[in-house]
Amino acid sequence: MTKKSFLIIGAGLVGLGTAYALIRRFPRAKIVVLEKEPQPGAHQSTHNSGVLHAGLYYKPGSLKARLAVEGIRQMTAFCQQADIPHEICGKLVVATTDDEILRLKDLFNRGQANGLSGLRILDRDQLRQIEPHCNGIAALHVPEEGIVDYTAVVQQLVKQLESQGVSILTSFHVVKIERRLAGWILHAGNGNFTTGDFLINCAGLYSDRIARLAGKKTSTRIIPFRGEYYKLSPSAAHLVRNLIYPVPHPAFPFLGVHFTRLIHGGIEAGPNAVLALAREGYSKNDFNLADAFETLTFPGLLNFLRKYPRMCWGELSSSFSKKVFCRSLQKLVPEICEEHLLPGGAGIRAQAMLPDGTLVQDFDILNSPDSIHVLNAPSPAATASLAIGSHIASLIQG
Ligand SMILES: Cc1cc2nc3c(=O)[nH]c(=O)nc-3n(C[C@H](O)[C@H](O)[C@H](O)COP(=O)(O)OP(=O)(O)OC[C@H]3O[C@@H](n4cnc5c(N)ncnc54)[C@H](O)[C@@H]3O)c2cc1C
Repeated sequence: MTKKSFLIIGAGLVGLGTAYALIRRFPRAKIVVLEKEPQPGAHQSTHNSGVLHAGLYYKPGSLKARLAVEGIRQMTAFCQQADIPHEICGKLVVATTDDEILRLKDLFNRGQANGLSGLRILDRDQLRQIEPHCNGIAALHVPEEGIVDYTAVVQQLVKQLESQGVSILTSFHVVKIERRLAGWILHAGNGNFTTGDFLINCAGLYSDRIARLAGKKTSTRIIPFRGEYYKLSPSAAHLVRNLIYPVPHPAFPFLGVHFTRLIHGGIEAGPNAVLALAREGYSKNDFNLADAFETLTFPGLLNFLRKYPRMCWGELSSSFSKKVFCRSLQKLVPEICEEHLLPGGAGIRAQAMLPDGTLVQDFDILNSPDSIHVLNAPSPAATASLAIGSHIASLIQG
């Protein structure tokens, strides 16, 4: 059966990437993207590090590994065609202890298993040729990774989709979902509604709630983790050439505070990963009663805090103390000092958690005959958004 009409909730990169793939697979279909904000891409898709990840970290065979590798190729091709600012500048993952060297070797093996090319383990002298101010004892060089302007990607996708007949309805906050024999009815908070045959939930920070509104039972909960950044002052910008990352803790999907050269100039440091008490709470003081209640009463959170008290305390202290934040940066670049760190922005990660406190590492896409729900699409889902879209389109029967 050819689907006649698709309703996509969420005009972030994943929702837009999905519409982009659907219009190619079902050229005669009616596709509507519903977005609660006045403009597309207002949340994770434009509040991130702007990095093109190549698929280094992810478990071989996982959806993340496959879609990240395909994703960076599709995303760079899209950027080239549309003349979107991007640059494949390469990245260093830097070990500062012997224990980290072992994990660096595991990462090297993972990267190779995932099909990355050009990976090299560097000694201190070799890494200093690439990043002269970096302090590691060894590093993994990932030449295929880069930086991009994701805001421009969002804008270009919107432009191309609209020119191909896709409707993007902004300020349409889906608050109620009804399933009738004839299809789905999505109601907005202002009384408007729209109908369609097939529902695709790409609602990011609210994807679990949308799934529940659509009648899906899921055991995972989106836990919002704020990532805070500093900007390096111009006097310190010469200390970082491109991308300098620490070796991440294997139990967490977060990569640790790192240095990122921005595509339009300047260097950013961060993000940390702090529990947020509002799903769209970009500042420390933001609080939303419903969000906080949902997060704090989820049994998984207590289990998570019990399992990883040191990590949670470390991230929280880096949020309240510039000194602590600076210390983790100094492990990578010792010349950085607090005076170099200027206030930066923040983003909120939509990270799915299981009731036992485990953070879901892989992308989680729930597929059913009349709907698809993207229940976990954290980093590198910006890089992989076009590949995630192609994957979703391939799941739908033609
Ligand atoms: C701090 C940070 C750094 C990151 N760095 C990188 C990076 O360097 N590289 C990378 O590849 N990835 C990175 N990521 C991850 C990446 O940004 C996200 O995985 C990706 O943007 C997810 O896209 P999305 O479309 O799923 O979510 P979003 O961009 O959040 O889009 C979801 C949309 O759904 C809308 N919505 C929600 N509820 C409703 C509703 N009820 N009705 C209508 N609309 C609704 C929201 O308004 C939103 O626009 C980072 C993320 C963060 C937070």
